[in-house]
Amino acid sequence: MIVHLECLFHYRCDRCDAWWSIADRRSLIGNFKICPDCGYHNTIEGIESHESPNTYPDNPQESNSSSESPSTND
Ligand SMILES: [Zn+2]
Repeated sequence: MIVHLECLFHYRCDRCDAWWSIADRRSLIGNFKICPDCGYHNTIEGIESHESPNTYPDNPQESNSSSESPSTND
């Protein structure tokens, strides 16, 4: 089975609060996104994500690092 992952970015205009969504992986901090409602040029200041580092098992460094914890919680 092949599973396809969709990256869907949700934008909210800083000026008029309109929401829109684009399935796009190229959104980066500092990029401009033009509001489809008012035409304002928004600057991406941050990207929030609900993904956890353990979502994808193809990153063995995340799951095998039990002996080296970056936490200083003694
Ligand atoms: Zn707008």
